[in-house]
Amino acid sequence: MGNVYETVVRQFNKAADRLELDPSIRKILSMPMNEVVINFPVKMDDGSIRMFSGYRVQHNDVLGPFKGGLRYHPAVDIDEVRALATWMTWKSAIVDIPFGGAKGGIQFDPHEVSEAELEHITRRFAFSLGCNIGPEFDIPAPDVNTNAQTMAWILDTYVSTLPPQERHRSVHVVTGKPVEAGGSLGRDKATGQGVVFCIENWAQDHEFALSKASYFVQGFGNVGSWTARLLKPYGATLVAAEDHTGAISNPNGIDPDDLAEHVAAHGGLTGYPHAAPVDHRAFLGTEADIFIPAALENQLTAETTPWLSDRLRVVAEGANGPTDLDGDRVLQERQIDLLPDILCNAGGVVVSYFEWLQNKRSEFWDLDEVDRKLRRRIDGGYERVRAAASEFDVDWRTAAYIVALKRLARLYQRRGIFP
Ligand code: NAD
Repeated sequence: MGNVYETVVRQFNKAADRLELDPSIRKILSMPMNEVVINFPVKMDDGSIRMFSGYRVQHNDVLGPFKGGLRYHPAVDIDEVRALATWMTWKSAIVDIPFGGAKGGIQFDPHEVSEAELEHITRRFAFSLGCNIGPEFDIPAPDVNTNAQTMAWILDTYVSTLPPQERHRSVHVVTGKPVEAGGSLGRDKATGQGVVFCIENWAQDHEFALSKASYFVQGFGNVGSWTARLLKPYGATLVAAEDHTGAISNPNGIDPDDLAEHVAAHGGLTGYPHAAPVDHRAFLGTEADIFIPAALENQLTAETTPWLSDRLRVVAEGANGPTDLDGDRVLQERQIDLLPDILCNAGGVVVSYFEWLQNKRSEFWDLDEVDRKLRRRIDGGYERVRAAASEFDVDWRTAAYIVALKRLARLYQRRGIFP
């Protein structure tokens, strides 16, 4: 698997060259501001001590506090976290929210530990991070294999270390919390909702009827399952899905709500009775109009992108970094459109911002308000990226970078460099 941080650097350089970005700003943005590596012990259920490696990379905070998810996965390492942190900086800039970019992770397989061990690992990491996170400084959120429960544990651990008078005013130290613990309505589906708004915009631009569309989804966790379910009311048909347990297909259609129930009950989508198992290559070759990668990085490469079917019209990147640079090139050669991750999956960070604002103001917004405001942010980002693609005559990923880099450059030019 390619190094995702190298991918980010090359994407950045391509856009910076095209934009003729000021060389000083280019130097600043080309490396993360802070990198924290913490090796910490946890007492496991059997009484033994196991060491874990956790990371938090803070790429840039010129637009606002560092912001980004926390991932639990055996493949987490410093380069992956650097890449994910950097993408967060671009993402917030594109959808115009006052956050910087950060990301964190712990290198382990959460499926191999008990629930109690998961809680201990999470709490000990949160404690060890200490003042490296904070409600006005760096705000974690869920990512792969973490969820609202993980955020509730981090919140509880963080505020437990504060004097009692400061606890209530610090609940915005994490977002993606359970609604009962200060979370926002609409945060659970927010990333999928943003993906769907992007697809809707793309369909309008291309006079493409979503009611007749078919789609397939890689990853059926938070982003993949919500995207699949939110596309259903448009009349579009889910025809295949894949997760870490395998892939399934049914050209006549799979009900995403029913599949989500199966996944919740069985821990994965294999064994789903209303679809046939298929291998990975057949999955990627699914005859459909829209592909939503919503799992991990480096899924569309020089090797795999040619497997996509000739029917495919657009790849909507729910995941971060699912397409590497060769994958981008093959998509362009094959005239398959791309809705790039840093635009397409920005709905999560947008509603995280709304949750953070609600916490700071002691407000609680209804779902309509959240969705309406999310739509405005995503539509604004989409329009800016479309305009940049046309003005600079570049692909949509490069256009998305240009939107982000222009915004950051304007700010650096105003503020200057201290001292
Ligand atoms: P999740 O843990 O809820 O789901 C991940 C899914 O990927 C699961 O269905 C898992 O089975 C599947 N998966 C894992 N390995 C796989 C493999 N080898 N092949 C196929 N499927 C595999 O995570 P999530 O929060 O849905 O995140 C998915 C992607 O979306 C990640 O790239 C993440 O960074 C990105 N993202 C998430 C959010 C968010 O709000 N959660 C926001 C923006 C971007």
